[in-house]
Order: sequence, then structure tokens, then C-alpha cells
Amino acid sequence: MIRLNDITSLVQNYHPKADIELIEKAYVFSAKVHQGQIRLSGEPYLSHPLEAAYILAQLKMDVVCIAAGLLHDAVEDSDASLEEIRGLFGEETATIVDGVTKISKMQFVSKEQRQAENVRKMILAMSTDIRVILVKLADRLHNMRTLGFQPEAKQIRIATETLDIYAPLAGRMGINWIKSSLEDLCLFYLEPEIYAKIKDETAQRRGEMEKFMTEVKGILSAKLEESNIQAVIKARQKHFYSIYRKMLDQDLNVNQVYDILAFRVIVNSIKECYEILGHIHSIWKPVPGRFKDYISVPKANMYQSLHTTVIGPLGQRMEIQIRTWEMNRVAESGIAAHWKYKEGSIATQADHKQFTWLQQLLDWQKNLKDPQEFLESVKMDLFPDDVYVFTPRGEVKSFPKGATIIDFAYSIHSEIGEKCVGAKVNGKMVPLRYQLKNGNIVEITTSAKQHPNKDWLKFVKTSRAKTKIRQWIRTEEREEGINFGRTILEKALQQEGLGQINVLKSEQIAAVAKELSFHSVEDLIAQIGFGKTSPRQVVGRIKPRFDIKADRSQGLVSKMVSRFRKPRPEHGIKVNGVSDMLIHFAKCCSPLPGERVVGFITRGRGITIHLESCAHIQNADPDRLVPISWDPTTKESYSASLRVTSVERKGILADISTIISQKDANIIHAEVKTTVDNKGISFFTLEVESYKQLQDIVSAIKKVKNVLIVERL
Ligand code: MN
Repeated sequence: MIRLNDITSLVQNYHPKADIELIEKAYVFSAKVHQGQIRLSGEPYLSHPLEAAYILAQLKMDVVCIAAGLLHDAVEDSDASLEEIRGLFGEETATIVDGVTKISKMQFVSKEQRQAENVRKMILAMSTDIRVILVKLADRLHNMRTLGFQPEAKQIRIATETLDIYAPLAGRMGINWIKSSLEDLCLFYLEPEIYAKIKDETAQRRGEMEKFMTEVKGILSAKLEESNIQAVIKARQKHFYSIYRKMLDQDLNVNQVYDILAFRVIVNSIKECYEILGHIHSIWKPVPGRFKDYISVPKANMYQSLHTTVIGPLGQRMEIQIRTWEMNRVAESGIAAHWKYKEGSIATQADHKQFTWLQQLLDWQKNLKDPQEFLESVKMDLFPDDVYVFTPRGEVKSFPKGATIIDFAYSIHSEIGEKCVGAKVNGKMVPLRYQLKNGNIVEITTSAKQHPNKDWLKFVKTSRAKTKIRQWIRTEEREEGINFGRTILEKALQQEGLGQINVLKSEQIAAVAKELSFHSVEDLIAQIGFGKTSPRQVVGRIKPRFDIKADRSQGLVSKMVSRFRKPRPEHGIKVNGVSDMLIHFAKCCSPLPGERVVGFITRGRGITIHLESCAHIQNADPDRLVPISWDPTTKESYSASLRVTSVERKGILADISTIISQKDANIIHAEVKTTVDNKGISFFTLEVESYKQLQDIVSAIKKVKNVLIVERL
């Protein structure tokens, strides 16, 4: 077990002036709050924070970070409060502990790659201080090392999460040794058989490898001595997980992976790096396409080296990395390699430059504060413009800072957005304007009655939500425009005597719309509704197109049929057997379905239907009369008026009304008058479907007490 002394002496090695007291104080506090707690391994709980702190010391972290490492489980796993830690150890330490506690409380499900990436970003975004991530990585590394004491299901869950989330995070931080340690531990728990095979195979080949290593080192050293270059040659076996990846990617068995050794040559200057590369390529044949110059083009995390693969002395591939000592330091400890600059020393121009890798590394897009200021404060907002929240099912979604629950709702589905009335965030109701915060669990509440509102545009942040809301408003306004436009256009048509024709569905208006360069008749009508096109202008263009001259030789009826065809029969009438004619019913006799009727062809207003007995058509031009039949399949309503004369009696109107509704007819209008001789005269305008229905109603009313006469008007 690691002891306090191991940590403090390590710290004093790389930072002699460090305030060791803070670490000691944190140790005492941690020992006190975790007293009596035991790990599943049987060790006292304190061993865990000590190990984590030791890993942080190996990363050469500052004392605040190491203290936070010792305290990292105090809030979550003991009675200690964050306030206590803040009071005893200061704001910085408390912030780190708080960040680690928050991340530890979350369980990440990461079914897909994209999701894992979001989780990693979320952790970064939640870590306002980058040391939060480093403590979390140290915590996870020790937990992975002791995972064997956990039940199997938990082993798999933790190992999966580590492989998906924490190993890549360590890689992004540039801390390669933590990354490979985590990966190998994950492989051990997730693919135990493959892990064992790789272990066996590499052990069996150890002798062979040693021999090979010595040979390569010997050849190289001789060459370097010859050229007078001081260099250290290191050979190492690749970590198991990278051998496993190789097997997967190239579909190989363990014993088919030859290049399990990697060589590294470390020199003093960049010039020497390229020189050595030349020597190596002169000794062994390089494999085409495998040379990478990360010195002139560093990786996003500032990693620099030359990589090459050559055909080695035994005819097998071998990888060689060439780098300077400074590059080696960065490659091994990543972000931690820069930490010494934090502690009060003056940052040089070069340091600024080195720190820019962090910006690239973390996709920093917006202009960052002065790097120096940033160094001093150590506080970092790694993704200043993003927040990450959970769906109820544990999926992580990212949003721009300031995004509201409306943005969240629209990100799920535009219908959810439109119907969103609020949300539960971490189980509590919040209003529409609520701004999402990192780690929120958001559950949207919808209502069928809800619809988007112009005000929403004032606070939504995502372009998706904005676009969808605008779209909705436009559609809504257009509908209103069309409705209003239709009303005023119909009025204008009526004034010009075109009221009886279904102009709005005619070819004529379509032609006018085209002439005025509208895409459709609807567009034209909407523009009238918005007041952008004058109805008069439109009517002026439509009217001449309806000016029909009677032409008997061509057959008036067939001409009418083509002129006034309606898209849909609405009246249950067939003219010469054709049902989609523009017709209307004569007001003088108001014919009902089933009654004997005749059609009269008007000039420009379609066909008027009269009762055969109507006085108005008795002297009409026989050429303009057409036979009419009722279409029994159509159900439409027609109006009919009745006059009921009765002895005046209270309630008679109600009685008659009841009869009418019992017969399934609507009363559009009713009026009662009393005559001087105490008779009541009631007028009814009804909506009926047929002549027969009207006859039924009339005979029923006649049976009502005190009714004297029922007449049709
Ligand atoms: Mn822990």
C-alpha cells in the first residue's frame, strides 16, 4: 500500500518548494472521514485515495491537485460536506472535488461511437478545471487495477465504460501510459481468453524477442557511433490492447502478429532525428506508406516524433520512433508535461505556443482569453459554448450554451417541439425558458393544445428549433391569409356578378394567377389576404374570361359542362346525367331532392334549378331548359321554409322545434308572431336532406296540439 511519505517525497523531487502541508492536511482529513471503511479488497478505504494521489504525483501535478486526489471520495462516500472541504482546503480544491463527485455520480451508457464522443465532451464540459479530469483518470486507473474484487456484472460495466470513455480521454490528454494501462485492464475483463492468449504467446516468444532486440540495438548503436550521434535506444513490447487491435484490424491470430516490439530512439536535437532516420532507412528497407513526420506536423495534442516501419534483420516488420528528449516528455505525460509552468514561473513565448495544443485538442473554437491569464488561473472552460444533458433514457445530447428546453424538445422531434409546454429537469418542473445546464436529466412535457409562438424565437438557441418555429408560423399565417383572402375575393366577385360561379376553383382564375406570376391560385389568394394584391385587379382580369355568348349550334349544355365543371359534386344533382356542373337552386321555389325539377341555363352563372311547376320558367326559352335528375347517393342539405299557423299557446314553439329535431333536421332560423285574433304564426327555415324528409316533418307538425295550418313557403 502506498504511504503518505511515498507521495510527498515524489512531489518534492519535481517541486522542491511545494507546500507539502496541504497534502498532509488532506491526508489527515481523508483518513478521518474514511475511518472504518473497507474496500472490497479488504484494504482500508484510505488506500484508494492514496493510490489516486500517488498516480497524480507520478503525473507531476501540483499540490492542490494531489490534495484533491486524497479528498476525491470524501463528499460522495463519507459524511464530509463540500463546505467543510472549501473551508479547510480552499476554493480550488473544493471545485475539483465537486467536479469529480458530479462525474462519479453519473452512469454513462455508450452504445454507439457518437454517443461515447458526446459523453467525453460532457465530462470535459463539466470539468471547469482540467485537474478534475486528471483526478478522475487517477481514480479510474486505481479502480480498474482493483476491479477483480467486484462482481462480474460490474466488472463488465466498468470496463466497458472505461474503454469507451476514460481511455480515449486519457489519450486526448496525451497521457499515453494511463491510456495503455486502462486499455490493457479493460481487455483483461472484457476479452479474458484473448488477453490470456496474447500473454502466453508473447511470453513464449520472449527469448526470440530478446535476441532480436539485442541484434537491432547492436546494428543501430554501431551506426550511431560511426556518425557521432548520442542517442538512447529503447525497445519495448507493445501493449496488449494494441496487439489485439492489430489482430482485429488485419484479421490475424496472435502468432501472426510479428511486430509486437517497437523501438524508440531518443536524441538531443531535431536535426539528429532526421539524420538517424536517414541511417535507419539505409540499413533496413522502409515499408512504403508507413513513414509519418509528426515533427513538422505535430498531432493535435502536440505529440511530435518521426515514425517509420522497416523490414528488420529477420525479414520482419519493425516500427521505430525517433524523437528528442523534450518530445519524449510531452509524449509520455501529455498535458501534465506542461504543468510546471503553472507554479509561479514566468511563462515564455515557447510555453504559450505549447499551450495552444490544448486549444486545438479540445476543439476550442471561440477566441480564448490570454493564454497567460489562463495559465495563472488554471480554470478552464473546455467547451465554453456547449452544454451536455441527458434524455430520460440516458442518452447524452449537446446544445449551445443558453439553449432552452424548447431546443431540447425540437432536437427529439419537431412535433415534440411544437407541443412542448414545459419539462421536468432532474425531476422538477421548469418553464419553457429554462436554460439547460450540464448534466441535467430532461423530460419534456407536451400538450395537444400547445403550438409554437413567435416569442419562442426570442429565447431558442439552436438553428433547428428556430427554423422549425418559423416554418410553423409561416404556415399558420399563410392559412389565415388564404382564409381572409378568399373572403374578400368572394365579396369582390359577388359585386361583379360572379358570385354564383365557383370562380376560385375555375381554370380562369388559375390562368390569372399564372399571368400574375403566382405559383398557384392559393398563393394568389394568400397575397390578397396579406393585402399585397388588390382583389379588384384580380376580378378585373377574371371577369372577361367568363363572358359566354350563347351559341346554340355548338350545344349549350356541353359547352356549359366544360366551362363550369366543378371538381366535386356537392349538390346531388345530375344535369343530362353529368354531376359536376356548376348549379344553384332558384330562390323563387327552393326545390328539394326528390321534387320534380328542371334546369335553366343562365348566361354566365351556370344552371339554375327550378321546380317544374315554378311560375318563373313557364314561359322560358325551351332551348335553355335541361332535364335534371337527383343523384340518390349524395347526402347534402337544402334549406326549406315553413309557416305554421296555430292557436296561441305557451310552449308550442318548443313542441314544434322538438319534432323538427326528432326528424333529424336543423333549424337555421325560427320566428314567432302573434296576430290580433290570438293566433300564433311561426316561421321556420330548416336544413333538410330530401323532399321526403320535409314531407315527414310537415305531417308531424300537423299532429301537434293546436296547430292549424302548415305551409311550405
Ligand atoms: Mn474514487
